[in-house]
Amino acid sequence: MRFDDLATYTALVQPYRAQGKFDCRSYFREPINNDLIGRTSIAQSKANGNPMHDILIIGGGAVGLSLAWELLRRGASVQLVCDSAGHPAASWAGAGILPPAPEFPSEKSSYSGGNENARAALQSSVINQAIRASQDPYLQLCSLSHQLHAIWASDLVRATGIDTGYARCGGLYLATTRGELATLAANTLWWDEHHIAHEQIDTDALIRLEPALAATAGDYVGAWRLADECQIRNPDHLAALRKACLLEGLDLQEDCVAGELIKAGNRVIGARSTSGAEFKASQTVICSGAWSRLAMDSVAAPTGIFPVRGQMLLYKLPAPAFQHVINEGNRYLVCRADGHLLAGSVEEEAGYVVETTDEAIASIRDWAESIMPQLTNAPLKKSWAGLRPGSFDGFPYMGPVASLGGLFLASGHFRSGLHLSPGTAVVMADLLTGKTPAIDLTPFRPGRG
Ligand SMILES: Cc1cc2nc3c(=O)[nH]c(=O)nc-3n(C[C@H](O)[C@H](O)[C@H](O)COP(=O)(O)OP(=O)(O)OC[C@H]3O[C@@H](n4cnc5c(N)ncnc54)[C@H](O)[C@@H]3O)c2cc1C
Repeated sequence: MRFDDLATYTALVQPYRAQGKFDCRSYFREPINNDLIGRTSIAQSKANGNPMHDILIIGGGAVGLSLAWELLRRGASVQLVCDSAGHPAASWAGAGILPPAPEFPSEKSSYSGGNENARAALQSSVINQAIRASQDPYLQLCSLSHQLHAIWASDLVRATGIDTGYARCGGLYLATTRGELATLAANTLWWDEHHIAHEQIDTDALIRLEPALAATAGDYVGAWRLADECQIRNPDHLAALRKACLLEGLDLQEDCVAGELIKAGNRVIGARSTSGAEFKASQTVICSGAWSRLAMDSVAAPTGIFPVRGQMLLYKLPAPAFQHVINEGNRYLVCRADGHLLAGSVEEEAGYVVETTDEAIASIRDWAESIMPQLTNAPLKKSWAGLRPGSFDGFPYMGPVASLGGLFLASGHFRSGLHLSPGTAVVMADLLTGKTPAIDLTPFRPGRG
């Protein structure tokens, strides 16, 4: 039942990491501080004569950490195992774009943090809004996640003091070809149907909104602004989630490779690390991103999850050059508040190889500098690659594994895992705590392909 075949992959990554281009571990560098552990759930669990945790999560990306936080806040005892060195999280590598999602037109509630009852009431109100925003479970998940991000950002900063960089910065969608124009024009019908605010803007308005685009604004054959596009600074979001989980009593095992699942009869009762440590729990959830398929294959529960590599460039400007996320086709520029500027990305099938290539980096750079020629002289700080967990039908997998008791899967979110992580956490936490999720999870069931 081994599912770690990563020796070759690690050997490939090491020289690359040694060049200093790859820094996926930065958010895990903070040593575990036992003072952070506010609720000793494992100690309590042991004191109650139960050596097992309620839930074991394999994977410490956005999905695993979000699920852990949601479960801990509901009182579960949770252990999380992850290996950021050998299996670098895509969640670190991403851009943190949160595109607008379907809305149920209603008065927006303002929330700046509050007691647990206020938070629970607000969460149940946004779940109601999400299921009324669309009939489609995937869009309901988008809607729920989009609303939760605002709430979670506020909760995270209050709980941890870490600002996740959540901002309702707006998005610009630019068309350079008539084909892109036709696609965006068709999108307006979809945006209207789902109450997503959008406005078509002309060249003058584009320059007024983003003077940094002045040199190229006249080249676009169409442009739209979507006010409700947001961003998070994903490494900070992950650091905040990690700290918040520790404060809630997470039993965190980092730099630990889950090598096999432990079975008792037809039930999974935990996992064993490659160094032989055993982690036991009543329920085990695979949140291993692009590697989830290896775990599922190992227990003959195949999925359609596969790695899709993306690559990213990071510039550093003295000050933020623009506010909106700038999108053209599948490519984008994202500016952080401190002047860091991300340019991405590509979609490549390269197995489990997390390396940049000169060709892809050059093509992203050419594109970024064609949108904003002033980047030609900007210092390029870093580049990196990450593996998105793709799925054969574009839907994530969320739910129990039918053939094995005690085993659940939450993975395969492809290009949207950062965006969809809070909604995923809520519906998965419902399942794991015996509550029927408000969103119908049938389309996401593991085992569908
Ligand atoms: C270049 C790029 C840009 C992106 N931009 C965006 C964006 O703007 N917005 C957005 O929403 N999404 C974006 N994405 C997609 C997003 O990053 C992913 O969908 C999301 O991060 C998946 O989260 P995850 O937690 O499922 O997986 P990951 O973040 O990959 O985490 C997997 C975890 O599992 C662990 N793991 C795996 N195998 C093992 C094992 N055997 N033992 C122990 N631990 C293991 C890893 O160490 C890691 O902690 C982007 C992705 C890339 C690559």
